Amino acid sequence: MTDKAWNIELGTDVIDFNTAETLGNELAYIAEVINGKKISGNGRFTEICSKYLVDLLGSPAAFLTPSCTSALEMAALLCNLQPGDEVIMPSYTFTSTANAVVLRGAVPVFVDIRPDTLNLDEKLIEAAITGHTKAIMVVHYAGVGCEMDAILDIARRYNLVVIEDAAQAMYADFRDKPLGSFGDFAAFSFHETKNIISGEGGALIVNDPDRIERAEIVWEKGTNRIKFKRGVVNKYNWVDIGSSFLPSEIIAAFLYAQFEKGQEATKRRLLLWEGYRTALEPLERKGRLNIPHPPEYCRHNGHIFYILAPSARLRELWLNELSGAGIGAVIHYVPLHSAPAGRKFGRSHGGMTVTDDISSRLIRLPLHLGMTREHVSRVVERIDHLSV
Ligand SMILES: *Cc1c(COP(=O)(O)O)cnc(C)c1O
Repeated sequence: MTDKAWNIELGTDVIDFNTAETLGNELAYIAEVINGKKISGNGRFTEICSKYLVDLLGSPAAFLTPSCTSALEMAALLCNLQPGDEVIMPSYTFTSTANAVVLRGAVPVFVDIRPDTLNLDEKLIEAAITGHTKAIMVVHYAGVGCEMDAILDIARRYNLVVIEDAAQAMYADFRDKPLGSFGDFAAFSFHETKNIISGEGGALIVNDPDRIERAEIVWEKGTNRIKFKRGVVNKYNWVDIGSSFLPSEIIAAFLYAQFEKGQEATKRRLLLWEGYRTALEPLERKGRLNIPHPPEYCRHNGHIFYILAPSARLRELWLNELSGAGIGAVIHYVPLHSAPAGRKFGRSHGGMTVTDDISSRLIRLPLHLGMTREHVSRVVERIDHLSV
């Protein structure tokens, strides 16, 4: 638990947007790594973390990475994206989703989102496909699953690769199947603002068994070092392009301690999320604001609780009022299609009405494991007194 800053002027505790909380064995495992005098990547903790992800998802292979960003870059590399190729994705996402594609010379093609889940609108994907389309990148916003049945069907019909940006989706399901287990590739984030953390950190999940061998090479700087470690070859060699995509064992040790308590931590987040929902529902009924209503068949993980202000003007006012009260409430994405690099490197297909509207009215509320129900009540109390 962290020291909470003290808001002297108001005489109340600041409620931070996020604090990084340890869950138990982090220090002990890091000490174990240091005492073992082997701290580089792909040691014992990397192995048990990968095995944990493989078991959790029922996937054939998992690779720890320094971030979700690097996992997405690995996926783009493994898709063999070429200059001019196109990848369909939402504009309402983090820059890393698009950067991974742009770094390979390919073009992000932005498509609008659904107003209920804020995920890629699966009904708009097919019309955005051209002869250059190679992949669909889906983002499970707030740990709420995209419509994976429909998306996988489109991908099969047009022979496209599916990459799940599952940065926010650890321990969430779509129709009882874990997010991260649907696409050819999936990328998780363990950044300190996510549900499971290691400071910076991530993982690439490879669900297509035919792509595992090359993933091992790309992960290890383009060498067949993994085959060497297994004794399959007697020296290792540069065999393909690759990069340094391994985190150190110190990171993996921290991460494993989080995995051990991951399910419990998710339950606690969901309690806080439910606390917001039940307390804010009456305000929604009065027409003062809107709250999320994830579909029943999307078992989410309580990653984000947001409210939608009635207008962009009120959103700005509310952000000021909340911040004045020491409440760490923040906006989410500035849509990529309207950002300078988005305009330079990508293009939109169709209107961006929902994306533009939602991104101008959304406020994320504080939600982290350092909070109690009492904190939730205080945030709700302040929201009840926001200007109208
Ligand atoms: C957080 C996030 C990322 C980036 O994760 P890092 O681990 O910080 O690289 C990418 N995509 C989405 C949707 C995210 O929420």
